[in-house]
Amino acid sequence: MSEIQKMKKRAKKHKDKIKFKKIEKMGILTRKKRMRNAIIASFIIAVLMMCRIAWLQFVDGDKLKYMAYVQHTLDRKINPKRGTIYDATGKKVLAVSSTVRTITVNPVNIKKEDKEKVAKALSDIFNVDYEKTLKKVSKRSSIETIAKKVEKEQADQLMKWMEENNILTGINVDEDTKRYYPYNNLASQIIGFCGSDNQGLNGIEAIYDESLKGETGKIIKITDAKGNTILKEGEDYESAIDGNDLILTIDATIQGIAEKYLAEACIDNQCTDGGSIIVMNPNNGDILAMAGYPNYNLNDPFTPTTENEKNNWDSLSQEEKSNILQQMWRNRAISDGYEPGSTFKLITASAALEEGITDTDNKGEFNCSGSIEIAGVRIKCWRYYRPHGAQSLREALMNSCNPVFISIGQKLGVHTYYTYLEKFGFLSKTGIDLPGEAGSIFLAEDKVGPVELRDNCFWAKI
Ligand SMILES: [Zn+2]
Repeated sequence: MSEIQKMKKRAKKHKDKIKFKKIEKMGILTRKKRMRNAIIASFIIAVLMMCRIAWLQFVDGDKLKYMAYVQHTLDRKINPKRGTIYDATGKKVLAVSSTVRTITVNPVNIKKEDKEKVAKALSDIFNVDYEKTLKKVSKRSSIETIAKKVEKEQADQLMKWMEENNILTGINVDEDTKRYYPYNNLASQIIGFCGSDNQGLNGIEAIYDESLKGETGKIIKITDAKGNTILKEGEDYESAIDGNDLILTIDATIQGIAEKYLAEACIDNQCTDGGSIIVMNPNNGDILAMAGYPNYNLNDPFTPTTENEKNNWDSLSQEEKSNILQQMWRNRAISDGYEPGSTFKLITASAALEEGITDTDNKGEFNCSGSIEIAGVRIKCWRYYRPHGAQSLREALMNSCNPVFISIGQKLGVHTYYTYLEKFGFLSKTGIDLPGEAGSIFLAEDKVGPVELRDNCFWAKI
């Protein structure tokens, strides 16, 4: 081997060595890099997990706690018995709550193989849709309502079926109450009615809802994730507190008579706007009857009363239906204005007597010539063609003579007259405990001149 060849061989060996060292170095570098990457990745994962934990704890915490509560407890409400409404005698029941049943299911407590069977039985007994019932029974929720306010007989039928089929959990039959109005249409616009959750929606039922409704109780079951009861005692029971009874000033007998004759009068006279009668005890202001026509059946408050409305009901829009029902429920005696006309002469006469500007029987104190001129306008007496002539205040009231009361009003003057309007309570609401009372319509005192005063004194028109 020549010297050159030897040198070449040595050089090659040296090169190989360097190459090997380089490869070895690269291996160490790759391992380090991998480790560093692994540490970074672990760190990122740890940070992400901590963020998630913090999120669950501080942001979603309350929601999750509630969800766990819902999953682990099977709450069932016990509805209180709503207070009874009596008439003034305390003997006639105008509204009463009878016991009915509410059927619920705890889907998690019904075995998978029983679900179809249960849904079939429930839909047959309570006449509800099978598919919808099956959906409810198969849900993963803790409780589902199947039927509300069912009669005892149907509930008994269900319990018998449960016993026969050995299905003892997952179906609940709880007591509930249903409002019943024994006299149907009687005093409907006063009493009002309740919604499906026993809340007062109209009339006395709405105004006295807080007193009548009572407090809801509940049955609490603590369960595990599968819905099995954990507590050995089974159920924790919080009883409901029944509502207070209420005695009205309305006398059912007087109310019945008022309604009968009001209906007759409205039909005979074709009063398309309906009518009202209020019967009051003048000694203490008690309202003994408040009749409205047309009225409606409290046991069926969402069905219109006239044949025409009943026939067209399905073709009406939701807004039209709502308007008809609102009209039907409205208590006109409370919410509608009414011009009292000549009856207002009594107020003018009372003010004049109180002020001492006249007396009841001063013979010939007033004179009716058939008309009277105020502020350049001549107002006729209703019997202008045969004037009343000389009269006392009593006779003028008996004759409802316009000129006499116009002249009394002018003597009283606007300010005194308004003082009496206020004292009689005409300028404010009565504050009766019924919803929707409308105020009166009177001009402000400073807007009233001789003409307005004139018209009001004999016809209550301002
Ligand atoms: Zn007259």
